[in-house]
Amino acid sequence: MAEPVFDRAFVAARAVFDGAERPCVVAVRDGRIAAVLEGGQAESVAARETVRLADGEVLLPGLVDTHVHINEPGRTEWEGFDTGTRAAAAGGVTTVIDMPLNSIPPTTTADALEIKRGCASAHAHVDVGFWGGAVPGNAGELEGLHAAGVFGFKCFLVDSGVPEFPPLDSAGLEEAMAETARLGALLIVHAEDAELIAAAPAPGGPSYATYLRSRPAASEERAIEGILAALRAAQGRGHVLHLSSAGALAQLRAARVVGVDVSVETCPHYLAIVAEAIDDGATQFKCAPPIRDADNCERLWQGLASGEIDMIVSDHSPCTADLKRMDTGDFAAAWGGIASLELGLPVVWTAARARGHALADVVRWMATAPADRVGLTYKGRIAVGADADLVVFDPEAEFVVEPSQLQQRNPVSAYAGRRLTGLVRQAWLRGERVHPSSATRHGRVIERGRRA
Ligand SMILES: [Zn+2]
Repeated sequence: MAEPVFDRAFVAARAVFDGAERPCVVAVRDGRIAAVLEGGQAESVAARETVRLADGEVLLPGLVDTHVHINEPGRTEWEGFDTGTRAAAAGGVTTVIDMPLNSIPPTTTADALEIKRGCASAHAHVDVGFWGGAVPGNAGELEGLHAAGVFGFKCFLVDSGVPEFPPLDSAGLEEAMAETARLGALLIVHAEDAELIAAAPAPGGPSYATYLRSRPAASEERAIEGILAALRAAQGRGHVLHLSSAGALAQLRAARVVGVDVSVETCPHYLAIVAEAIDDGATQFKCAPPIRDADNCERLWQGLASGEIDMIVSDHSPCTADLKRMDTGDFAAAWGGIASLELGLPVVWTAARARGHALADVVRWMATAPADRVGLTYKGRIAVGADADLVVFDPEAEFVVEPSQLQQRNPVSAYAGRRLTGLVRQAWLRGERVHPSSATRHGRVIERGRRA
């Protein structure tokens, strides 16, 4: 046997790489994938340590979740970097990009970014990057944030739910679009139209149907229409967050045909939960835009299958249990947000396999596509030169969700009691095990354009 030339080798009868499943050995050196060996060559790999996957386990790249709210500092009791990134690791997510709101301060200035980075670097169990925020009056801050390495800028067109992160009006959107286009930065948009929501019936009380009527599909469709027009005019780069209404897919398709640079994501809850199944008062299912009907859900799946929806990200947006107002079940008063960092992979896999999709599809939606869109081409894939972010996944194991056993800070889950298929057995970040967790933290703060 030759001297070990690799730090670690993962021997898998099933691994997802190059868009397919095949047997291989992934050899790791200095935190990166140094070789992917197939067939006979695999026997000759000399590594200091060998991780042999069990029968039935599949080696996946670590997932990249570009839509996560970690509310530290300021609302750490909702979710902090320690608990949030432990949840990520347990869910097979080895890279998260944190949203600029729900922490205090919001990430709308370079100083605020430094504060957030300080918190993350002290507590992160997975790699953490940051989005900046575009809010009224901060257009002058975007260049500095961009230079500091944020992955792009988020804005709202409707009330965000927190007072320190106000929405942009149409003039503000135009200004932010012009500036992000000039910088070549992504502008990512919460697409609901404020006027149409103001004109819709008000939410109130425990009726889910009333809540759903208060945030109609038309408001998403109109907001997306405005974003597409602004992108076309400014020749900007845009991204539609948490698409809930499949009715918007036609205009997105039409815009892409004429060259508009726009991508779109949806979330596990829009793919695995339907309005018809939500009981009145069940505020654990409140999010915005809202979960719509079963027919819409199937059309989102068609959008994924056809490639019209690029990616699935969690929109992990937790809060403390009291803010969900489970006692009164009042949809108007409850915080809107669903926490699923740890459960996204099994939720999506359970629903995807039922529709005939393969694990390679899930990897594309949850790892490669989000990584590519934010420029993290060295993550989200098993490939030579990529970071050795790896997940050992058992796609047949079943479990029932027990919220108190989750790593997230608050035991509130829209999936409580659900039977899911697919268990993350191990997660590795740059060649180091992060789940089950070790004594050492391995997470780092990552920046756009600079490889750690
Ligand atoms: Zn969000």
